[in-house]
Amino acid sequence: MPAPTRATYIVGVDLGGTNIVAGALTDDGGDVIALRTEPTRADQGADAVIDRIVRIIDTVIAETIALTAAKRQDFIGVGVGAPGPLDRERGIVVTTPNLGWTNFPLRDVIAERTGISTRIDNDANCATVGEWWLGAARGARNVVGMTIGTGIGGGLILDGKLYHGSSDVAGEIGHATIDITGRLCKCGNYGCLEAYASGPSIAERAREQLAGDEESLLFRMAHGNVERLTAATVYEAAKLGDDVAIDVVRETARFLGAGIANLLNIFNPDVVVIAGGVTQAGDTLFVPLRKEVRKRAFRPAVDACRIVPGSLPGSAGVVGAVASFKQQSG
Ligand SMILES: [Zn+2]
Repeated sequence: MPAPTRATYIVGVDLGGTNIVAGALTDDGGDVIALRTEPTRADQGADAVIDRIVRIIDTVIAETIALTAAKRQDFIGVGVGAPGPLDRERGIVVTTPNLGWTNFPLRDVIAERTGISTRIDNDANCATVGEWWLGAARGARNVVGMTIGTGIGGGLILDGKLYHGSSDVAGEIGHATIDITGRLCKCGNYGCLEAYASGPSIAERAREQLAGDEESLLFRMAHGNVERLTAATVYEAAKLGDDVAIDVVRETARFLGAGIANLLNIFNPDVVVIAGGVTQAGDTLFVPLRKEVRKRAFRPAVDACRIVPGSLPGSAGVVGAVASFKQQSG
């Protein structure tokens, strides 16, 4: 009788502008083992961030070994989801405003430091693939994934395959223009969806709408300092019935609804899966969002599509980085 094959493990790393999240999965999926989070602290420079990534990978491996029957040689890969644009072929982060990196050879640096084969992919692509492999979009053929946090990232699964486009830029949903003379976006363009509906943009609109209304719950929740307002405060205040916060969330739903209606008409997906901090707003966001999409997109596209929150909060990027490693090395 042949000996049973040992499980192999892949470490997934989700490198964000705010946090680095990492964990291990077995080759065939299952639960994330040894999920860890650490602040990125990009202001300390690339070398410090790389040290932190390598350390967190080592910790995840050590913890996985402690929790399972794994041995060091069972770790066959590291997948890293990083903010783009990237050049996957060369393993390079081309440019990323959130980390301040330009032409950084992330794949080879991590592979060299860990001694483990490494692949990189766009972080939002990874989150989408994660939800597709083990989360809310499981089994779907055409998926639009959106991750709404510090920015708005996107990923596209078309006909059962992650779509990268001609130069790895596909899925940059956050930089779809929704108002040609609109707000200035971090990318330099005006009127991008991200300039209205990312976490910081939601907080910014809330600040504008508050206009010193010291009576409002939102103002009090920010401890009387609007500069301390975050998107999370807005979602929480909306849930508690604060009028300004509810208005801001509804308006966010309209912006996102318009953006998503465009995507439904272009890609006709069976699932739009939305992940990130914004899902904390729950039905306050999703009900008017679906209504806005129904108003704007073609009926057969609306009828074919579920718009749902992600089901892997906090780990979709890690799961997807593992899935992306498998796809790129398989
Ligand atoms: Zn933009």
